[in-house]
Amino acid sequence: MKRPIIAGNWKMNNTKEQTKRLIEELKPLVKDAACEVVVCVPFTSLETARKAARGSNIQLGAQNVHWAEKGAFTGEISAAMLAELKVKYVIVGHSERRQYFGETDQTVNLRTKAALKAGLKVILCVGETLEEREAGKTNEVVTRQTIEGLKDISRQEIKSIVIAYEPVWAIGTGRTATAEDANETIKVIRKAVRKLYGRATASSIRIQYGGSMNAKNASELMAMPQIDGGLIGGASLKAEDFAKVVNF
Ligand code: PEP
Repeated sequence: MKRPIIAGNWKMNNTKEQTKRLIEELKPLVKDAACEVVVCVPFTSLETARKAARGSNIQLGAQNVHWAEKGAFTGEISAAMLAELKVKYVIVGHSERRQYFGETDQTVNLRTKAALKAGLKVILCVGETLEEREAGKTNEVVTRQTIEGLKDISRQEIKSIVIAYEPVWAIGTGRTATAEDANETIKVIRKAVRKLYGRATASSIRIQYGGSMNAKNASELMAMPQIDGGLIGGASLKAEDFAKVVNF
């Protein structure tokens, strides 16, 4: 049985003080969760979040990582720096990074490899834009992003990867993919994984859905056979809402 994984992506929200408060509120609400619970917080909140979550079932995640070990990359953070802060998961290739910060399939792959090398687990995001969806390119896009993102990653390493299917048009818009549509596209992503790693890996890898997932629609989405978890943006910023998703 695969253990579902629900991860919050706080994006650029919450100061250290707010981080402490939100995690303190969250802890009792998610303590009996059947799934893995992760919060991906801003770099500046990692230390505070780690301390606040100590002794709980809330795991620490970051939202990006650079591929180089060190050097002249102003504003970037290395995988070793995250590992030192006891970060367990890191989001790589979020559509906001692809859209606004020039992230490509190649840089997504480099970041993923660097994170794995440092012992981090990766939440690798894929998903089509509205334009691509309307042009009938969804399957082609998610297949390409999956194959390129996983390039040169071994069968052993892929055990530390969770894929998040996040249709770009559903992120932060209040529009959710229907549970059936999400299920079908995740099937396509799994097929791409199967081509690369075989049937066993394809069925054991966890693939999340993300895109306006919230307290109201989580149970319907999580009931789909292909959906193994959720990546939650807006709804992860309120303890009660996030807890409802976690306790779907
Ligand atoms: C996200 O940021 O990954 C996300 C899915 O955001 P939202 O839930 O707000 O759509």
